Amino acid sequence: MYVNDNCVGCGQCFAFCNQGAIEVFGKARINNLCTNCGICLTYCPLRAIEYVNKNGKGEI
Ligand code: SF4
Ligand code: SF4
Repeated sequence: MYVNDNCVGCGQCFAFCNQGAIEVFGKARINNLCTNCGICLTYCPLRAIEYVNKNGKGEI
């Protein structure tokens, strides 16, 4: 999963991740507990979470 520059650190994704895989320090960061379930990206109001970045790579 990849967090793009739209992220404002609102924490909504953090609240919905049931793996404890999102940390928010100013901006969301996804750690290696992530299972790529995709729930977080459906809750981000700014579409800041994507499966892959523009280079086709996830952060983890
Ligand atoms: S919900 Fe979106 S904007 Fe809010 S912290 Fe998560 S990635 Fe960032
Ligand atoms: S894809 Fe699923 S496990 Fe990974 S950070 Fe998002 S909600 Fe959590």
